[in-house]
Amino acid sequence: MLVKEEKILQTYFGYETFRPGQVATIEHILQLKNTLAVMPTGGGKSLCYQIPGLSMDGTAIIISPLISLMKDQVDALNSYGIAATYINSSLTAGEQQTRLRDISSGRYKFVYVAPERFESGSFVNLVRKIRIALVAFDEAHCISQWGHDFRPSYRSIVPNLKKLNNIPVFVALTATATEEVINDIKELLHIEHVVNTGFERDNLSFHIVKGKDKTSYIRSFLQEHPNESGIIYTATRKQADTLHEQLTRRGTNVAKYHAGMSEIERKQAQAAFIHDESSIMIATNAFGMGIDKSNVRFVIHYAMPMNIESYYQEAGRAGRDGEHSDCILLFSQQDVQLQKFLIEQSLMDDAAKQNEYHKLQEMINYCHTHSCLSSFILEYFDDKVTKMTCGRCSNCVELKEKDDITEEAQMILSCVKRMGERFGVGMTAKVLKGSRDKKLKEFRLDQLTTYGIMSAYTEKELTERIHFLIAERLLATEEGKFPTLKLNQNSVDVLKGKRPVEMFTLTIPTSDEADYQEDLFSQLRTLRKQIADDKGVPPYVLFSDVTLKELSRYFPV
Ligand code: ADP
Ligand code: MG
Ligand code: ZN
Repeated sequence: MLVKEEKILQTYFGYETFRPGQVATIEHILQLKNTLAVMPTGGGKSLCYQIPGLSMDGTAIIISPLISLMKDQVDALNSYGIAATYINSSLTAGEQQTRLRDISSGRYKFVYVAPERFESGSFVNLVRKIRIALVAFDEAHCISQWGHDFRPSYRSIVPNLKKLNNIPVFVALTATATEEVINDIKELLHIEHVVNTGFERDNLSFHIVKGKDKTSYIRSFLQEHPNESGIIYTATRKQADTLHEQLTRRGTNVAKYHAGMSEIERKQAQAAFIHDESSIMIATNAFGMGIDKSNVRFVIHYAMPMNIESYYQEAGRAGRDGEHSDCILLFSQQDVQLQKFLIEQSLMDDAAKQNEYHKLQEMINYCHTHSCLSSFILEYFDDKVTKMTCGRCSNCVELKEKDDITEEAQMILSCVKRMGERFGVGMTAKVLKGSRDKKLKEFRLDQLTTYGIMSAYTEKELTERIHFLIAERLLATEEGKFPTLKLNQNSVDVLKGKRPVEMFTLTIPTSDEADYQEDLFSQLRTLRKQIADDKGVPPYVLFSDVTLKELSRYFPV
């Protein structure tokens, strides 16, 4: 199988073997079946259309959302001696004319274009006249309103393309696709095969950090990781500016990138980062799509993003070389307010906003769950692997003790019930606390039998426990600007005493203990990988529900 294509892989690109998912995708394309490839960032999606493009007759057209991304891909292909070009607004009219002429003569194997190009009749006519090998949609989630980066022109050109009868096959590629997005792409492009390699990236360790001063945390992190390359994402331009100033003042060489800067400034910052002149990049989400920097050792989120799709895509820019890398999210309650504000003032219609609130809630749950963070993400994307412990994320490795909080959970749940399932987290915490807030009187909530039944706790502790119950799906929310709490089947089971509730409380180790633990864990990680490699399975299959902490009891290394 794929003898010719393997030869292309070796002679043009210099790689020995295909990666998981590449073979299946390429085979389907060669059989002219419309194919969607879902692979993690760095998984090797480009080769999935580049190899068939070289193997088939004619020109491959690639639709790509970003100018910088097109240029990088074209430069890379040219460096392999492959005829490729791009057409976009960065070219002068003269340059465009020359390239269009060369395209019509069939000179190029690969042509990268922005979707808007197909809005012009003349380009469509050009495509109609030449021999086409395939049309590929890179970053295909941009096609879908359910995706996190919807580009209307990605969607609107599809009917026009479908009308052309000289396109033998459509290819779509994305790293981020929930079921909704996959279905949307399938329907729109008439996809016949989906190749989904799953999302697991076992060189990434996810961490949630709460209750710390974010800037000081970053300062000491950078001190402990000198010379490592990393990206720090902020939620707003202002945050990026402020953090950049704070760090630069201390003499750290950091680059900055956001949409408020001029194109030249952005280009310079990006180049400095790519070429390791600045090891750190502080940026908003404007930075990163299509950036192929392999040695990014950490991605820190200064604030929680709007949804898990964006988070995983941004965090996934760490460790493309397969080396161990860290993805750290610094959480604070204000992040939630900011994201709600951004949703509220966006131009989406109500249904779309509702959908965003739903995704935001899942993002919040991620920050409050006590389960394995990797498995939380995989489950969110409906990946096959469920209930695992990665042994790397902060929930798997931190020294924590389990507390039985069944009784507290029952008090909280019965309070939600008494309140008629009409209020949110804040009000519920106030009622449990027995707060004198005037709003409680207004709704006569101070008359309830559950008023003040948990007065020994602070409102913050109560809020934390309620968030924990939501994250563990023991309590539901009705999403919206002011999400209200609802009981679900799990809540009923807890109330009936059929289901115990356990919560982890962090025990902070002394620094000696922490060193010892870190040492032990790194030996265990290696051991676990060795055993897994011997058996030829990924570590999370072999030790599906054993944490490193638990392993340490059985393997005294
Ligand atoms: P993405 O899926 O994020 O689009 P890319 O296509 O940019 O990923 O590929 C990421 C990196 O992996 C690139 O440097 C690419 O050259 C490399 N790569 C792709 N396929 C293979 C392979 N079969 N063997 C080795 N390296 C590969
Ligand atoms: Mg790509
Ligand atoms: Zn984990």
